[in-house]
Amino acid sequence: MITKDELQANFASVEARIAAACAKAGRPRDAVTLVAVSKKHPPELIRLAWALGHRDFGENYAQELRDKHAALADCAGLKWHAIGPVQPKNAKYVAKAAHVFHALERLEVAQELSKRRTGGPLRCLIEVNVAGEDTKAGLAPDAVEGFLAEVRALPNLEVVGLTAMPPFVDDPETNRPHFEATAALAKRLGLSQLSMGTTSDFEAAIACGATLVRVGTALFGERPAAG
Ligand SMILES: *Cc1c(COP(=O)(O)O)cnc(C)c1O
Repeated sequence: MITKDELQANFASVEARIAAACAKAGRPRDAVTLVAVSKKHPPELIRLAWALGHRDFGENYAQELRDKHAALADCAGLKWHAIGPVQPKNAKYVAKAAHVFHALERLEVAQELSKRRTGGPLRCLIEVNVAGEDTKAGLAPDAVEGFLAEVRALPNLEVVGLTAMPPFVDDPETNRPHFEATAALAKRLGLSQLSMGTTSDFEAAIACGATLVRVGTALFGERPAAG
């Protein structure tokens, strides 16, 4: 686990890069929320980041989210973003803990989330498999509109945007067409939120209109190996 000083320096550096990307794009800094992706890192590290003033954290796995939500329940104002696809049987953990769900892609999961959600609608983003990758979750772009109509019929969910998870690349500019296509689709559907951009490409995503960037490695360092 990295030290508090390293963590503080990493947050300052990512913050400066986000501010610069916003300025370059002519967007206000507060148009972009930094979601600190804390998956596989221990709750103590999240608590340190929270003590430094950070509030938005992203987790991929429903059971890990459940456990961290419980372990950090005393951290006032902490908001959990569930950023990975979930199995229907685990949707209850997301319904309970998440402030925003970034990876909606199955009607069965949407139904389960709506059924389990209490205390206000769960804000959701539909995940789009924008590069058509076999190995990736998400809906084909041309399936999003129909899915959106089905989800809108459910009572306790509010679809606010789209999530793009394009390929991992060395050159962030490679993903720009994917980000632009996702932004254009969201605009056509009247959705205001765009979750796109990770450590390797968040500046390009901000240039294309991202409102939520999901950054892990640049903040917390390499993730510990499983086990
Ligand atoms: C792990 C993960 C991230 C963060 O990736 P980094 O390269 O560590 O910034 C973002 N989004 C999703 C969906 C992830 O699973």
